[in-house]
Amino acid sequence: MRFWGVRGSIACPGEKTVRYGGNTSCVEIRCGDRLLIFDAGTGAKPFGKELAAAGVVDADYFFSHTHFDHIVGIPFFLPAYIPKNRLEMWAGHLKPDHTMEQILRLAMTDPLFPVPLDVLQAQITFHDFEAGETLDPRPGIRVRTAPLNHPNGATGYRVEYDGKAVCYVTDTEHTIGTLDANILGLIEGADVMIYDSTYTDEEFDTYVGWGHSTWQEGVRLCQEAGVGTLAIFHHDPDHDDAAMDKIAKAARAAFPGAVVAKEGLTLKP
Ligand SMILES: [Zn+2]
Ligand SMILES: [Zn+2]
Repeated sequence: MRFWGVRGSIACPGEKTVRYGGNTSCVEIRCGDRLLIFDAGTGAKPFGKELAAAGVVDADYFFSHTHFDHIVGIPFFLPAYIPKNRLEMWAGHLKPDHTMEQILRLAMTDPLFPVPLDVLQAQITFHDFEAGETLDPRPGIRVRTAPLNHPNGATGYRVEYDGKAVCYVTDTEHTIGTLDANILGLIEGADVMIYDSTYTDEEFDTYVGWGHSTWQEGVRLCQEAGVGTLAIFHHDPDHDDAAMDKIAKAARAAFPGAVVAKEGLTLKP
């Protein structure tokens, strides 16, 4: 797995975020020769450029949800413009009122965007499911899902392949003192969990109701569910490199399997 964008809410390029990166959520997961992508934040722009240069793209694209910071990269994702490419797009938070195609169409509407969704010439298939369903996108790859606690809904994912399990759990808010049963069920015994760690426990009081969690809650979930590695993710754009270094040090002391996700980081479970 490789991180292309690790920020929450809004991209934050600049000299104070250059080491951890300023792009919003985008994660590449490879299962053998299969490509799975999670979210299309601004990190999807550089990722798409590299993918398009490498050849034909045939990928499954999973969305945690459709807030701007997770879809803004789609109109700039180069493989979506190339006719021979194939993209299966999955979303679990929109039924029954909306569909993924409808929301992307809406985002690429005059006067919000200069060209409509139809300019994307790849073969795109939309799959709207209900968070909690188990998906079998390709032979040998099982994707389990669970609903998360986030305004307008969001979906957590667990990818199982070749005896390994990797979880992608963002955006979600916890309740102080109660571990989220949906998340515990999803991440049980997983090798890696990527987790919404927008805030610290010390900051959290100010942000109750904003739909995000803390790295300390990620540690508690991993400890309870026996997860090996916690990837601290969806960083607050106001947390500069110095703040992230402090979080990395404190997190490692609290849980030896904790790593702070940064652009370019690769993990192999
Ligand atoms: Zn977000
Ligand atoms: Zn969100």
